Amino acid sequence: MTMSSNSAGKKTYSAESANPDTEAGASGSRAAVCVSGSEKVPDGDDRNTAAVAGDAAETTELRKIIHVDMDAFYASVEQRDNPALQGLPVIVGGRPNGRGVVAACSYEARVFGVHSAMPSAEAGRRCPDAIFVKPRFQAYKQVSQQIHAVFREFTDVIEPLSLDEAYLDVTGNTLFGGSAYRLAREIKLLIRERTQLVASAGVSYNKFLAKIASDYRKPDGLFCILPEQGESFVAGLEVGRIHGVGKVTEARMHDLGIQTGADLRQWSEEELAREFGKSSAYYYRVARGIDHRPVRVSRTRKSIGSERTFADNLHDRTAMLAILDKLSEELHGQMRERELASKTITVKVRFADFSTFTRAHSLAQGVLDAASSRRALPFLLDRALNLRQDASPASGRDGTSAGSVGSGHRRGRRSGVRLLGVAFSGLVAAGEERPVQLEMDWPES
Ligand SMILES: [Mg+2]
Repeated sequence: MTMSSNSAGKKTYSAESANPDTEAGASGSRAAVCVSGSEKVPDGDDRNTAAVAGDAAETTELRKIIHVDMDAFYASVEQRDNPALQGLPVIVGGRPNGRGVVAACSYEARVFGVHSAMPSAEAGRRCPDAIFVKPRFQAYKQVSQQIHAVFREFTDVIEPLSLDEAYLDVTGNTLFGGSAYRLAREIKLLIRERTQLVASAGVSYNKFLAKIASDYRKPDGLFCILPEQGESFVAGLEVGRIHGVGKVTEARMHDLGIQTGADLRQWSEEELAREFGKSSAYYYRVARGIDHRPVRVSRTRKSIGSERTFADNLHDRTAMLAILDKLSEELHGQMRERELASKTITVKVRFADFSTFTRAHSLAQGVLDAASSRRALPFLLDRALNLRQDASPASGRDGTSAGSVGSGHRRGRRSGVRLLGVAFSGLVAAGEERPVQLEMDWPES
């Protein structure tokens, strides 16, 4: 979509709407609309009822997307299930004396600068009073199913991003006068009622903006970005808040004098391509509030995985295999419980220097059972280990020969392996045609 068709789009959106989804639609011209869950929602006039007929063909192009994201998810579940933890800094993840990382933390812990993916040891230093809790994925998955049941009451077009996060395409929704904003509010209410947990929601005309919107007033946020507000909203946005701009890219943009979306917009597509390569087209579009990615019901990346970080680096191949066996066994147990099946197994190896390699094996037909996974493990491990070797042709053979940690592993032997993981991807429901919409992060143990 070009800019002009984008602005054509915004016309149809407001013309179409019995509901521009927000208060601003009614009051007209304010630049941005924000309504957090804790703020008062002016119930009477939060929708523009000036419906205009006859725009149906055009309006089909404009989508209504809700991004729902639970607040401090794992930590909130822990605080809900153990009232003694309420109001306290709770960190879910690895222990502070180990080498694991923070999977999630409560808002009380965030005050101390703790955030997810931070090494637990660092989190313990920043927040000495934090209470570290081991993740209970079973409990989180249960909540995940509850919130998905809520989503399904309103739309079939659901794209889960993780256990606690999903995009919903509600373009076709007719409840609440078709207002996606009010529908999002209803979803938040139902989630709170059924799980005693708090979700934030963002509403907009594409995924990019809906995701930013859900984060904008967290926790307990509800925020809407209208089509006519998209461009100006992005203009004021710090580039670091743009989904897909990581720390490295952010630093590079700052070096180039790009602090905000408005700065980013000054750059032509060619100029961006020179600096950022493949991602430049995405940056070019989102700087203009444009994102055409559909909400994908069936994601290609549906996986279940588990990994272990070791206090002391591992050097022994037999020991590594034993751990991979155990992880694979456990995951097969979890898949059986949930009646899931996979045809792709992946082994992940991280060396002491944090270089990380994965090797995968897929069946052409059918799904993996525990025995076929077990047979694949030595092969995958050896290939992952060999990847680490710095050009030693000596171990060119298939790495499957038993017990042989070939010369190619010398470097690996010296530095050791600090983490091993197994994952199964492309999960499908055993016996069902439709792939199951479930994704797990690699839990740190
Ligand atoms: Mg979340």
